[in-house]
Amino acid sequence: MKLKWKAKKLTLVIIPDANQSVVRFRIPHLFAYIAAACFALLLLITTITYVLHSHTLKQASELQSKLTGANQQWSATLTSKDKAIEQLQNEVIQLSQQAEQMKTQVEEMKKFEDDLKTIAGLDLNTTGKAVASTESGAVSGPPDETTLDAVSGIGGGPNPASQEDIIELGERTLASFTVLNSEVKELQTSLTETKQKVADKQHLLQITPTLWPTTTKLVTSTFGYRTDPFTHRPSFHSGIDFGAKANDPVYATADGKVVSTGTDIYHGNNIVIEHSKGLRTWYMHLNKIMVNKGDTIVKGNQIGLVGSTGRSTGPHLHYEVLKNGESIDPKPYLKAMRKDE
Ligand SMILES: [Zn+2]
Repeated sequence: MKLKWKAKKLTLVIIPDANQSVVRFRIPHLFAYIAAACFALLLLITTITYVLHSHTLKQASELQSKLTGANQQWSATLTSKDKAIEQLQNEVIQLSQQAEQMKTQVEEMKKFEDDLKTIAGLDLNTTGKAVASTESGAVSGPPDETTLDAVSGIGGGPNPASQEDIIELGERTLASFTVLNSEVKELQTSLTETKQKVADKQHLLQITPTLWPTTTKLVTSTFGYRTDPFTHRPSFHSGIDFGAKANDPVYATADGKVVSTGTDIYHGNNIVIEHSKGLRTWYMHLNKIMVNKGDTIVKGNQIGLVGSTGRSTGPHLHYEVLKNGESIDPKPYLKAMRKDE
């Protein structure tokens, strides 16, 4: 059977033009089958190759579009980052300028504190120390203006700042703020101390008899030795006499408390006010006493009227300052004018 199948042959006839002879090929069946199989196989491979190529093309196209999308997204992200960086750079510049302004303000506040101390008559040494500490720090010194100018060129300026410039400026600004922070804290402490000192000084001034006790500044007799108007002999005058008209107002020369009011043939109607630090003031020959023992008196309060009671030759105020019970010269204390003058 096998042999018979192999023995079968196909005859191929090729007919050329009419005047040429016919060509015949005798081909075994097996060869024809093999040829057909080869052709089918070739067709199959071609089809598979085509399908695979198409699939690859489609994938490439998809990848291409994905890449395009991703690229656009990156571009947008980069643009946004660029803007953010530019904004941050501008903020660094602004912050550095603010640090400069704050530095100036802190210096002005220190000067203000010094002025305050000068006005209050306080020692300036403590503030001087604070200023010295400011100037000693390398980071707190004035920034390199050239760099700052270059940096300011960001945003289309002729000299855009390099990233290194900005980073350096940012670091210097941070350092400036750190120094400023400690300086402001120092200033707060210093100002609190100054406020307390000024308040103490104010209190001391209030309890010190610096005010003139009469409207007039006419001193008719000073503290010390003089000729007694009654005996015409040298005698010690333990206060100051202010020449004034009868019933002129008499004022308390400092804050205090009335410790005695009374009258006698020497002092006439008189008032004693106790201040502090062992100081007392004594007002004599009054026409009228306008306060009572125990009254709290504020500097400048009217306490009586000028008169000529007691051992007196005419209307005047005999005014004494006593320190720990001893009369002292009131003149060095008398500095302040009355507020309404
Ligand atoms: Zn006198």
